[in-house]
Amino acid sequence: MIETGYDLIPKPILEYVKNRNKKRPIIPHKYHVSSIVGCLVKEYYRRTIGGEIIAIPALLNMLRGTLFDEVFTPLFEKNQKRYDVTRGKITLTGQYDFVWDGSLWDLKIPKSVFFRKESGAGPHYINQGKTYLAFAHYHGDLLDVNKIRILMIAGDGVVRETVEGDDENIMNTMFARASAVDEDLARKKIKNILQFSVPEESWECGSQICFYGEMCPYKKN
Ligand code: SF4
Repeated sequence: MIETGYDLIPKPILEYVKNRNKKRPIIPHKYHVSSIVGCLVKEYYRRTIGGEIIAIPALLNMLRGTLFDEVFTPLFEKNQKRYDVTRGKITLTGQYDFVWDGSLWDLKIPKSVFFRKESGAGPHYINQGKTYLAFAHYHGDLLDVNKIRILMIAGDGVVRETVEGDDENIMNTMFARASAVDEDLARKKIKNILQFSVPEESWECGSQICFYGEMCPYKKN
């Protein structure tokens, strides 16, 4: 007998997968860079109506990334360092993966790199890496590092995109995005965040992929 479906996965494995992907705590005025580079409407919904990822494929994808990070990043002397930067009442927090060969590396384990071979890493991943480097420099760390490398390893190939790390606007951009979410949360209305493209990358948007896709009027797909 051949069977297919995620419901065939034994309960202990499912419980483990769910427990490893616990919800990120909501701390007022404090934002993770990885959330602020992505869809700001999603961050607004997460902080207002809550919710958690319950789809098994999404949970498995997240776990795959977590496990690869845990195995690979400790191979490097400088790895997984977190920085907080505060401006006014907003704090941003972010953690780079590792430093190697004069570059700050961010490791991604997507299901496929089929489209990335043409499009590259995309603005979210690149801005994420640039922000981590800007945070390190702000704290007087990694001053000899000036390149960002996004390494994507998938079953169908490997793609690496390298960009210059110095971006004098990246901190301002990230704080402007976080402030827009913060102001909209304060007035309980999605308004300011719509000045930014929502979302900038359509692959993360829509009923099929986004937890809020069914109810969200801003979805692209
Ligand atoms: S459906 Fe699209 S626009 Fe709406 S929250 Fe999700 S990613 Fe953002």
